[in-house]
Amino acid sequence: MMQCDKIYLDNAATTKISDEVFDVMLPYFKDFYGNPSSIYSSGRQASIAIRDARSQCAGAINAEPSEIYFTSGGSESDNWAIYSTAYSMLEKGKNHIVTSAFEHHAVLNTLKFLEKKGFRITYLPVYRGGIVKAADLKAAITENTALVTIMYVNNEIGTIQPIKEIGALCRERGVVFHTDAVQAAPHLYIDVKKDNIDLMSVSGHKLHAPKGVGLLYCRNGVKLTPMVRGGGQERGSRAGTENTAGIVALAEAMVNAEKNKKDVYSRHLKLSEYIIEEMMKMGGVSFNGDIEKRVPSIMNFSFDDIEGESLLLQLDLKGIAAGSGSACTSGNSEPSHVLRALGLSCDAARRSLRISMSRYTTYNEINIFLTELSEIIKRLRELRL
Ligand SMILES: *Cc1c(COP(=O)(O)O)cnc(C)c1O
Repeated sequence: MMQCDKIYLDNAATTKISDEVFDVMLPYFKDFYGNPSSIYSSGRQASIAIRDARSQCAGAINAEPSEIYFTSGGSESDNWAIYSTAYSMLEKGKNHIVTSAFEHHAVLNTLKFLEKKGFRITYLPVYRGGIVKAADLKAAITENTALVTIMYVNNEIGTIQPIKEIGALCRERGVVFHTDAVQAAPHLYIDVKKDNIDLMSVSGHKLHAPKGVGLLYCRNGVKLTPMVRGGGQERGSRAGTENTAGIVALAEAMVNAEKNKKDVYSRHLKLSEYIIEEMMKMGGVSFNGDIEKRVPSIMNFSFDDIEGESLLLQLDLKGIAAGSGSACTSGNSEPSHVLRALGLSCDAARRSLRISMSRYTTYNEINIFLTELSEIIKRLRELRL
């Protein structure tokens, strides 16, 4: 029996480990597995590798190595940035935090917890296009505001937020600015200095490094309260024996992303225009979010009369993996909070499909996907009549 190659179009959920990343991390499992805190050779090798990785990660976002803290991923970095600032806020007698309505759950659920503990949270609207307005933020900041946390690129619709404007505004008002850049790091050039970013989260597995590693950027001068207490790792801020292989992998992945960004972006742009054009031809399909201000790798569509879940199942039978919002959302029947924030009804949010590409996505794969999808849609619509 012939089997169709697996076509993977859910890269905003996770990505495969690239060959280069796989190769650089292997020696740290079997040869240089020493504890980086140990003074013998294999420990020293590991410690040097982590030091080099820290410089590489810093270089990729125009930060200093002393501003990079390795973590277990995007969720931990988001939690850490928010809790750390919340502790400092309490000391200053402030309790107001500003965010957007469509952040990742790692941010939203952390803020919900703080809300229960007495913090006041303002959720900025994102409008139909899925972009916050700097003017809304300006109006929301009060004397009591100590933290603004707004994502760089949305993981379900790919829209890019006005980070530079937001950063400038926060700096001017003396408010700490955190951004979840998990979906931006694979695709956009990030400059933490130019963007006035104080805290920033990056995750390895969204850019071809393994799951379970990420980093928190914390600008020198911004107070960082330890989240994991214990040994002196990460300059006493995040205890626990370092994930040497993961850290080396993250650095290699960030360096590679930098190298490939320009080419990949323009290829994604062409593919994305083609996909949108073909999708519109299918009829009864609408594009969710802003068609201009987004990373071209992420697209989200709603279908007039078909559940996203049915599409996912039918596509899977053809060996094609796509997404319907975040992984947490797919597990239960709650419609995407991101699409709801755009003003879509629960129903329209359930009738959505997310396509997300990586640098490995080919024109051929997209063509197979489009052909299969249009046949699935036709069949499902016929069943309905
Ligand atoms: C995936 C993702 C996260 C979570 O990262 P993990 O490394 O899986 O914890 C956070 N924010 C955004 C925008 C994401 O896409």
